[in-house]
Amino acid sequence: KKMKLNEKESKAITNSNNNNGNMIKPNRISIQEQRRKLPVFDKRNKLLELIRRHKTLIILGETGSGKTTQIPQYIYSARLQENGKIAVTQPRRVAAISVALRVAQEFGQGMTVGDVVGYSVRFEDVTSKKTKIKFLTDGMLLREAMFDRLLMEYTVVILDEAHERTIHTDVLFGIVKKAQKIREERNLTPLKIIVMSATMDVDHFSRYFNNCQAVYLEGRTYPVSVFYTVKPHDDYQASCVATFFKIHKEAPPNHDVLIFLTGQEEIEACAHQIRLLAKDPEVQGPPIKVCTLYAAQPSTQQMTVFQPSQPNTRKVVISTNIAETSVTISGIKYVIDSGMVKVRSFHPSTGLELLKVQRISQEQAWQRTGRAGRESEGYCYRIYTRSQFELMKKATEYTPCTSISWTNPPREAVVAAFEQLRLLGAVENLDSNNLSPIGKKMSKFPLDPRFSKILLAAQQYGCLEEALTVVALLSSESILLSPPSKREQAHNFNSVGQSNRRPWCHEHFINMRNILHAREVRNQLEEICKKGDLVISSCGSQMNQLRKCLLSGLFMNVAELHRDRQYITLDKRQVVQIHPSSSLHGQQPHYVLFTEVVQTNKCYLRSLTTIEGEWLSEIAPDYVKSRNIRFNKDT
Ligand code: ADP
Ligand code: MG
Repeated sequence: KKMKLNEKESKAITNSNNNNGNMIKPNRISIQEQRRKLPVFDKRNKLLELIRRHKTLIILGETGSGKTTQIPQYIYSARLQENGKIAVTQPRRVAAISVALRVAQEFGQGMTVGDVVGYSVRFEDVTSKKTKIKFLTDGMLLREAMFDRLLMEYTVVILDEAHERTIHTDVLFGIVKKAQKIREERNLTPLKIIVMSATMDVDHFSRYFNNCQAVYLEGRTYPVSVFYTVKPHDDYQASCVATFFKIHKEAPPNHDVLIFLTGQEEIEACAHQIRLLAKDPEVQGPPIKVCTLYAAQPSTQQMTVFQPSQPNTRKVVISTNIAETSVTISGIKYVIDSGMVKVRSFHPSTGLELLKVQRISQEQAWQRTGRAGRESEGYCYRIYTRSQFELMKKATEYTPCTSISWTNPPREAVVAAFEQLRLLGAVENLDSNNLSPIGKKMSKFPLDPRFSKILLAAQQYGCLEEALTVVALLSSESILLSPPSKREQAHNFNSVGQSNRRPWCHEHFINMRNILHAREVRNQLEEICKKGDLVISSCGSQMNQLRKCLLSGLFMNVAELHRDRQYITLDKRQVVQIHPSSSLHGQQPHYVLFTEVVQTNKCYLRSLTTIEGEWLSEIAPDYVKSRNIRFNKDT
């Protein structure tokens, strides 16, 4: 079963010059020594020279070469940022937080994050007046750009992980380019732009920035032996667990394992299984430490992944594709690759954001494989067959995710977006770009405009108390553990004493971390409401008030029951179903309001509630009329 890498494959992940076969134990050597060992270190002066000389620069380098953690520090110590700040954007909050913590630690001298090095992600701003290197999510920098188009706070903007493109990144590229140009025209402090990426495919970035210079940093990776399964496996999650225990039995202690799965639910389930099986006296091998890594985890939890493991134990990290390129965990010797990934994509034609589990591309498979060869030779177990691998797409075949058109979005999409803002009452009319008074109030919230609208509308329905809770929960990862055999109201959580929370959460199948996060989000939204003089009142048991309030923001997300238990969305006439995990599954209400469509083999609605059809004409008459919404039943 063991597959020798063919030449091309091994070239993709090996740099034999550096292959001395010795294990490097990074937790045994000092942090400054680790820094000097990174491939970027030798290029430090050359890089600084290039950054000084060019107003825009592209830096390419394999994952783990030190781009994210080192380059901002080099710029800072050479004072290239002069009187401004350095912004480093990340597509994911986990990466922004973990990298900021790491860089603060590398600064040494008891530097804590929030000092010179800080981070800012939605609902969490850990920066101060002293902050000079600020890690932030693409979305946060976009928000800052809403209030200052020229980003005057910064003299250097680093757009990191540019290969991981989201709607936010795309818009950000445009904004940063424009800010640079206007600042130049107006003789303001210049803005330097640095684009960093782990993949070679950068011609389009270069073209977008007027054929700017690109530099390539050589990476340092060791050979990785790749294994495939003989037969295809449907249940890749179970196969990952089984493969882990096979490795665990044979591998020496502290040869850590990284498992790639698709999302929180899968990862938590897999972690649970491993913890459970590890207790089995039959299982041989050192004690197991299970760590999980996914986007919605609070930072404290995430950081445990990066702690060096105790001697004579085995760490297993179960992660989404975050660990593919965004973060590097030391000590990984084995990779188990499920071959699957969950992608969020936006469909301009339906206007829906879809979460879809799909096969990874061959490039992604190689990225994952490479994670096993960071510090010494490694092993990668692919939970798919060689022929399945051959069938995987090349990343470039994915459209529209990676085929980049740096043109304006299609006119219809822009019109649709304005139309949505108009229907929400955020802009006065289609001809004016100006926000209405409501629109201005809406922009104060770091939320999707539809959610901001809900909070504002809650005044009228007397249910801001409840609306805040719902919006906070919808803005956080699910607080329900899966598979839940009971579904309780999260409300009671607040009345549970500090020391009883853990057992309470356990008993009610609630994810404690996520509920604490949701509560934090709620507090912040409440603050914004209070600043905007909104009255916080409760509708008590009159849940219709709350449902109507939700509809006033989400009127475009209504689905109607048709024959065969199928639902059809009123807006785009899409066939959808209620997700089996919903408490409404099997109840077949005539009308449902949803917030999310998840596409697996079918399109499923998640996070939903029942509404009355007639409310729609009452609450969004403009919408019903302008879209010519037709109801199936007389309601
Ligand atoms: P790149 O951006 O080129 O992928 P990074 O700068 O993120 O590389 O990482 C460089 C090295 O720094 C990694 O290989 C790893 O050894 C170390 N490192 C990065 N983040 C952490 C962390 N949170 N904890 C410990 N080590 C880290
Ligand atoms: Mg990086």
